[in-house]
Amino acid sequence: MSIRKKSSQKQRALEILVRLKRLYPDATCSLNYSTPVQLLVATILSAQCTDERVNLVTPALFSKFPDAASLANADLTELETSVRSTGFYRNKAKNIQAACRMIINEFGGHVPKQMEQMVRLPGVARKTANVVLAHAYGINAGVTVDTHVKRLSERLGLTEHTDPIRIERDLMSLLPQADWENWSIRLVYHGRAICKARSPACDACELADLCPSAFNVPQVTVKAKIKEF
Ligand code: SF4
Repeated sequence: MSIRKKSSQKQRALEILVRLKRLYPDATCSLNYSTPVQLLVATILSAQCTDERVNLVTPALFSKFPDAASLANADLTELETSVRSTGFYRNKAKNIQAACRMIINEFGGHVPKQMEQMVRLPGVARKTANVVLAHAYGINAGVTVDTHVKRLSERLGLTEHTDPIRIERDLMSLLPQADWENWSIRLVYHGRAICKARSPACDACELADLCPSAFNVPQVTVKAKIKEF
């Protein structure tokens, strides 16, 4: 990409950021938690599940297993039952327990603050690590790329990639580091409210004049619709 194209893309990204902040001033992580471990657990549970569903499950879960030690020592079947309604519960319970055991055995009982250490935890890839580092510790280590961020970043012409790691790299090069996480949160809000997978409301979108896909979004597959939540 030429330097000129990159710099105009950057200016557009910054203007989009300004508007997203104005549109969603109170946007924040919608998962309920009290500690970094609880946020980690809630974020693992949110894979392929809505935050609302996770928030229905976590009060009882955290009352029974409030910290890394109790989760590490939990009866696995009981843990599975507690998280069953979030889907993929066997895998999620196994990962939560294994992650908590690693937190106890290798990180002194605390969720680590480095990306390299975070992604060693079972069930934790960059997306989960970014959420936890940003909201538990205020560390902007990267840009969280979920299904909404991926779709909107593509439509807004801020990336030509489809792989989340490459999309994240593109967004990191366009946005100030201090805004990496609040970009993701606000883009998720905009994706849910306006720029939906199958029916983007371009006529109601305050980013339309900055969006190369405005009124011209190709039809998406049913699979994409199913993933939208
Ligand atoms: S103009 Fe349309 S495609 Fe572009 S961000 Fe807005 S809703 Fe999405």
